[in-house]
Amino acid sequence: MLATNSPISYRQLPLRLYQIGPKFRDELKTRFGLMRAKEFLMKDMYSFDVSEETARETYAIVSVAYNRLFQQLEVPFVKVNAATGMMGGSVSHEYHYVSPVGEDTLLQCSSCGFAGNSEVLDSQADSCPSCKSRDLKDVRGVEVAHTFLLGDKYSKPLGATFLNTCGKPQTLLMGCFGIGITRVIAAALEVLSTDQELHWPMLVAPYDVCVIGPKQGSREQPAAEVIENELLLNVGELCGHQELLHDDRKELTIGKRLLEAKRLGHPLIIVVGAKAVQQDAPKLEVHLSRGEKLELDLSEALKLVAEHSHYKKSLLKGSFQPDKDESKSQSVGHQL
Ligand SMILES: [Zn+2]
Repeated sequence: MLATNSPISYRQLPLRLYQIGPKFRDELKTRFGLMRAKEFLMKDMYSFDVSEETARETYAIVSVAYNRLFQQLEVPFVKVNAATGMMGGSVSHEYHYVSPVGEDTLLQCSSCGFAGNSEVLDSQADSCPSCKSRDLKDVRGVEVAHTFLLGDKYSKPLGATFLNTCGKPQTLLMGCFGIGITRVIAAALEVLSTDQELHWPMLVAPYDVCVIGPKQGSREQPAAEVIENELLLNVGELCGHQELLHDDRKELTIGKRLLEAKRLGHPLIIVVGAKAVQQDAPKLEVHLSRGEKLELDLSEALKLVAEHSHYKKSLLKGSFQPDKDESKSQSVGHQL
């Protein structure tokens, strides 16, 4: 597309074009659900710059954004120096979630955290390139994102050019950057969940709060529904009505609905049952992920919802203190 419109002007640079869209692959080994499927959602970006130096600046800017995104998702990740492989170019990094179902082998240093794709590290596999420790272990990684500094590998043969400040045509310098959106979701769930319950990255969870009310025809139903309605109103205002799932299938027992809610892994599940209407100290049951259960009164439960919502907003705004140490995030991600 850029070659067809060449030459463009240096005034239009740097230029960064991205798309989010479905991709199709005639995959012979479909497996692990969405992890390796014939259709998936992908974010791609192609960058165009006037020089090698500014192309590297772009690469650094996008890398910071990628690091930040993966920190915001709060799933441990490793960023590794990668083989440039069939895409070519000079610099390349991969972002991996470490999981036994991963199809890449990464070598990770136990003493400094450095990680590399074993394709790249083969020649020096007996010691860590960063700290020379010999304490390297193999881990399996799921690749969720990849960045490449392409230089003129594609722009030169295709004739993608721009007019420089002197009006002379020059070859554009490119980078390319991809995030496997479907795979991020599948792999994050794979890493965080147990066989019994899904666990979502907080920013990806379909709902923040699931409210389960009393069973139809139970003794507590009329009084509990008064509390349930007050809870629904307040929770909706605190976290946004689109973040609230009300399981109003009251023909089902609380136990049955709770089991399903836990399997779906809602970050906060609030049950308004018999204890909510007991005479002294009425309590709501609040279930957090990983089996944690609290008994709280209405205002305490709402405080918890508000805290959750506040933390989520701080993650979105990026005021959650991302890891500033580039040398650390170079090799190793959040929590690892
Ligand atoms: Zn090391």
